[in-house]
Amino acid sequence: MSWRDARGPEDENPGKQTPQVMRSDIFHPDFKAAPWWWEAWKPSNTLSQDPPARTDVVIVGAGYGGLSTALELCRNGARAVVLERGDFGIGASTRNGGMVSGGTNLGKGLGGKSPIADEFERNKAALMGAGADSLSVLTDIIARERIECGLMMNGRFVGAWTPRHYADMAAKVETYNTYANAGSHMVPRERQREMIASDYYFGGMYASRAGHLHPALYYKGLIEAAHHAGAILCANVEAERLEKTPAGWRVLTAKGPIEAREVVVATNGYTGDLTPRLKRRVVPVASHIIATEELPENARTLLIPELRAIGDTKRVLTYYRPSPDGKYLIFGGRARFTAAPPEVSAPALYRYMVDRFPQLDGIRITHAWTGNVAFALDFMPHMGTDQGIHYLLACNGNGVAMMTYLGTQTARKIVGGRNEPVNPLDGRDFPEHALYNGEPWFLPVIGAWYRTRDWLDRRLAA
Ligand SMILES: Cc1cc2nc3c(=O)[nH]c(=O)nc-3n(C[C@H](O)[C@H](O)[C@H](O)COP(=O)(O)OP(=O)(O)OC[C@H]3O[C@@H](n4cnc5c(N)ncnc54)[C@H](O)[C@@H]3O)c2cc1C
Repeated sequence: MSWRDARGPEDENPGKQTPQVMRSDIFHPDFKAAPWWWEAWKPSNTLSQDPPARTDVVIVGAGYGGLSTALELCRNGARAVVLERGDFGIGASTRNGGMVSGGTNLGKGLGGKSPIADEFERNKAALMGAGADSLSVLTDIIARERIECGLMMNGRFVGAWTPRHYADMAAKVETYNTYANAGSHMVPRERQREMIASDYYFGGMYASRAGHLHPALYYKGLIEAAHHAGAILCANVEAERLEKTPAGWRVLTAKGPIEAREVVVATNGYTGDLTPRLKRRVVPVASHIIATEELPENARTLLIPELRAIGDTKRVLTYYRPSPDGKYLIFGGRARFTAAPPEVSAPALYRYMVDRFPQLDGIRITHAWTGNVAFALDFMPHMGTDQGIHYLLACNGNGVAMMTYLGTQTARKIVGGRNEPVNPLDGRDFPEHALYNGEPWFLPVIGAWYRTRDWLDRRLAA
């Protein structure tokens, strides 16, 4: 039996299920179950300091969100302490696909008619404008702090899984261009090979105001910038409890309590029992990525011309991009909705990759990894205050620019001492559901349902 026959429940073709097996022929002898990005920079505690007894703002979580909050606070003269329960960079911020865009992903997943979809529709100009701003904030920080992270603003192609998806995207192009300044246009199937060396999709949409970066090098630059700006960064220090005090907050840690005026929670897909009310509002969903060995010379530029980022419109989406030097392919998707070892996730992603690029059949995988994406029940990013605690949460799979933006905005709000919303995403209703207590028991069921819907849609489109 070859790896192709080893079908499992995460297949794009669930009609043909046979037992899942691990085939060693897809794994490179030097295979690592760790992010490919960590070859350039891996989670570390080099910049760690002991927490002080007192500060202005304690930030929980040292991802892009927490670090950009700290950076902006310190640039504005406030004292900030960032607590990270693991090594710096252990969360999603060094594990992601590094694909960046501004506003075109907002509202994705809302579906047809619902009060939430209606509200998005009414406010889409402002909300998508904030999404567009998030990309500007990201690129401004990278330029200002001189962060070398392979940023390429070379656009994104989103492949249509069905002709219906193509039509749905075509109906939105004008909205994206008007409100998010996306520079997008449709690419019919007969011209698809200008975007990608594959006939897999039914055409798609190209957005020029998008691109990709090296997520771990961006993280490295951001943490160094926060450190140089004066933030006190504490690795392996978990925020264990928050107590209200007359002057603000007491944050309890194993290294002693910290008194602070304000607390910011930036824990996203790793939100835990420190903030049970927020935990009930975000659903952690696993996303998985593989990296290939070095591509043959001719595949580098031919596979994805101009080294663009690629996504698609499947419910169980895939997203992929070349490495910054174009030598490797980084291929991600929701092979499972929950954490899964590489023996499970990598063969599934490999099949997705070869379905799109049959020319890669036989190439080996050098890395496979997973991380948590935080979804809100309304599929929107959120910042605001809950019982006096600031939060920036729910990236919905698009947090490289968005969490950087929400962190910067949260810092400005704190420094400005403002209570009113500082942007259209600030203080919006952050929904919860009576059947969700923070433990996402339903994800396997939803994953199976989405896969079946994808399969059915594709069969009907064939
Ligand atoms: C596989 C994958 C692919 C992705 N691809 C993309 C992409 O291509 N483009 C894109 O825009 N986005 C992508 N994302 C999403 C993006 O990575 C995230 O939105 C972003 O990194 C979130 O940053 P953050 O700072 O909010 O959270 P994180 O980086 O996850 O940091 C949160 C931190 O909080 C810490 N923490 C939790 N509780 C405590 C506590 N009590 N005390 C102290 N510390 C605590 C955690 O240890 C963690 O390090 C992807 C995510 C994954 C997992």
